[in-house]
Amino acid sequence: MRLAVLKEAAPAETRVALLPDAVKSLIAKGLEVAVESGAGMASGHSDEAYAQAGASLTADRASLLSSADILPMVNAPSAADQRLIQPGAVAIGFLRPLDDPAALLPAIESGVTLLAVELVPRITRAQAMDALSSMATVAGYKAVILAADHLPRLFPMLMTAAGTIAPARVFVIGAGVAGLQAIATARRLGAVVEAYDVRAAAGEQVRSLGAKFLDVDLGGIATEDKGGYARELSEEALDRGRDLIAKAARTADVIITSAQVPGRRAPLLIRRDAVENMRPGTIVVDLAAAAGGNCELTRPGETQLHHGVTLFAPLNLPVTVPGHASQLYSRNIANFLALLVKDGAFHLDMDDEIVRGSCVAHQGKVVNSRVASALEAHIAAPTP
Ligand code: NAD
Repeated sequence: MRLAVLKEAAPAETRVALLPDAVKSLIAKGLEVAVESGAGMASGHSDEAYAQAGASLTADRASLLSSADILPMVNAPSAADQRLIQPGAVAIGFLRPLDDPAALLPAIESGVTLLAVELVPRITRAQAMDALSSMATVAGYKAVILAADHLPRLFPMLMTAAGTIAPARVFVIGAGVAGLQAIATARRLGAVVEAYDVRAAAGEQVRSLGAKFLDVDLGGIATEDKGGYARELSEEALDRGRDLIAKAARTADVIITSAQVPGRRAPLLIRRDAVENMRPGTIVVDLAAAAGGNCELTRPGETQLHHGVTLFAPLNLPVTVPGHASQLYSRNIANFLALLVKDGAFHLDMDDEIVRGSCVAHQGKVVNSRVASALEAHIAAPTP
């Protein structure tokens, strides 16, 4: 079994799918590992470190793609790279099968097995493979650091000879994995933190981090699905949240917003007038930008200054922390591989909930019904 670690080709990508320590343990399990030269450099891992772990190094990307049986990766490969992968090989990564299924067609058609880490079910047994949570953790942390760096104030309360400085007030919208990490980070920096989420269960987690949970009466409607995720709410219920947010935002120094509903556009929660009523100097970081954003003014990937308010809409904060983002991702991938590789051979056990849930395509067929529908929709109305 030959596994290849590629240098990520996406612009601005700094992460790598497997670190040298994971490579070493895979080799100990009987795999042969080849690494593209420079694959780990941007995340602080030299070619020598991979060589010491037992991997062979090569600059010949095409031969790596065409000879590998297993290809762990961060991002989906380009169409040209997909055409080089041998039929029957397995590619594992953030493949965006629901966002852009058509981009995977070359690999699907040539019989590459595709496993998407974002489709790994969020069950207890899969926690160690949960790459979405790993990246959300990094993003939540970095959002606060980004805000603190641009805030014209300090975060902690300081009592100095020149007077007392009040602590920064941070408001976190959406207390999932990213939001909770943002709360914890802001608290560590000394801020006073408030948070809002539609899931009642989030209240306890928010309070346990020393923040205040803002409750809103949504009239007893169900806000959570069976999987523990937020449901899409009616406009009336969303409006109640928007009113509370507009009020809390008037006194906040920093607003980190991370509200998402799986498979849907992110809910619009911060209206234009709420931004215009914020104090000048307020920093908003819209972590839901990749899913359309929580703020009406958000332009994904752009930073704007509006009425003295700075609005960040980063699309990929984990790439700004490549060392630890890669470390977490590499562990997730190694744990996933432990489920797939037994006695040096690859087993795709479709009876396993994790394998079945994450498998997009196998032997030339799309095996995930949501991806199949997304592809049909694309074929009916292709995106330009
Ligand atoms: P997510 O990224 O889908 O959403 C982020 C947050 O936004 C969620 O807390 C959600 O409730 C909130 N939200 C959605 N609509 C909102 C609205 N209109 N107003 C305010 N907030 C809104 O969520 P996530 O961070 O991926 O995780 C969500 C849940 O899944 C959490 O309960 C988390 O603990 C759970 N989870 C479980 C596992 C596991 O068991 N393996 C792993 C990860 C997450």
